[in-house]
Amino acid sequence: MTIREETRRITLGGVPVGGGAPVSVQSMTNTDTADVEATLLQVGELEAAGCDIVRVAVPDREAGEALGRIVAGTTLPVVADIHFDYRLALLALEQGVDGIRINPGTMRAGSHLEEIARAAEAAGVVVRVGVNSGSLEKRARGTGGKAEAAALAESALRGAALMEGFGVTRIKLSVKASDVARSIEAYRIVARESPWPLHVGITEAGTLWSGAIRSAVGIGAILAQGIGDTIRVSLTANPVEEIRVGRKILASLGLGEAGPQVISCPTCARTEIDVIGLAMRVEKAIEGYRFPLKVAVMGCPVNGPGEAREADVGIAGGRDGAMLFVAGEKIRHVPPDKMFDELLGEIEKMMRDRGEVD
Ligand code: SF4
Repeated sequence: MTIREETRRITLGGVPVGGGAPVSVQSMTNTDTADVEATLLQVGELEAAGCDIVRVAVPDREAGEALGRIVAGTTLPVVADIHFDYRLALLALEQGVDGIRINPGTMRAGSHLEEIARAAEAAGVVVRVGVNSGSLEKRARGTGGKAEAAALAESALRGAALMEGFGVTRIKLSVKASDVARSIEAYRIVARESPWPLHVGITEAGTLWSGAIRSAVGIGAILAQGIGDTIRVSLTANPVEEIRVGRKILASLGLGEAGPQVISCPTCARTEIDVIGLAMRVEKAIEGYRFPLKVAVMGCPVNGPGEAREADVGIAGGRDGAMLFVAGEKIRHVPPDKMFDELLGEIEKMMRDRGEVD
């Protein structure tokens, strides 16, 4: 891992972003924002899954007028996503949101941006200048209307400079392309040219399966270069899945509040226990944990004891059951019908000892 890029520290609600703060995970609700009850229900689900910051779209006045009740109904920082109509941004700020996301390319007049900037700074909130390949200004596009990496980066940097010029002192930038290679390149340029923290994501990544993989490759490659302070995985799926995937990306890189990680073998002809079933049950049982924990589920005595020993808690399949390991020590043999319960029991005991759960 490269050393993380030094960025300025901003605070969104109570969540620090940039300047060495843990990488935070965000998502966006897909309920009707004006339906406060449904939106808050989803915000609660996102929070339970480990979401640090939530964003809501504000397509009209009705949605804007609901923001105050949404902010009051959650402890998560709320970011209002605004396009086209600067009056909605002003309304969102009046309603007490913690941040606004704008794309200067979708705002018509400089004077409108200036009004947003002055109101955001007066409210002490963060402004994300979020540029997307799909909504990049026409004049910035290359031949054939393509949103090249350099054009995305330039657009975001120009937007940030504009907002700074209007007095904004809390800025976040994003340069999301739906193409992984272009996103990586755009983030590299912005990280080199700007001190502001970066919100990293691959836009319109796709459905759960393919979107998770594209996001893991793209966001993972960017984070591995020490670039990025907060992430959002964009999936055509329940937003809770975005948080689950985001947390897994961070856990894979040992970043942020990474949460638990299950190491399990791919299985082969030597497998002596139901590794697939056991690994999936264990993963489900501990997915809500927020603290780092490594659990190994291995199928046989070849690599099993080695991996199980390196994990906090591990199990290695063998004849008539499996060997259980805790903190690198071989504890006892467990029969097949007790493997899940005993593994989980040891995990919970370890968590209690560490003071992580009651
Ligand atoms: S740990 Fe054993 S069962 Fe699992 S893949 Fe490796 S050799 Fe096969």
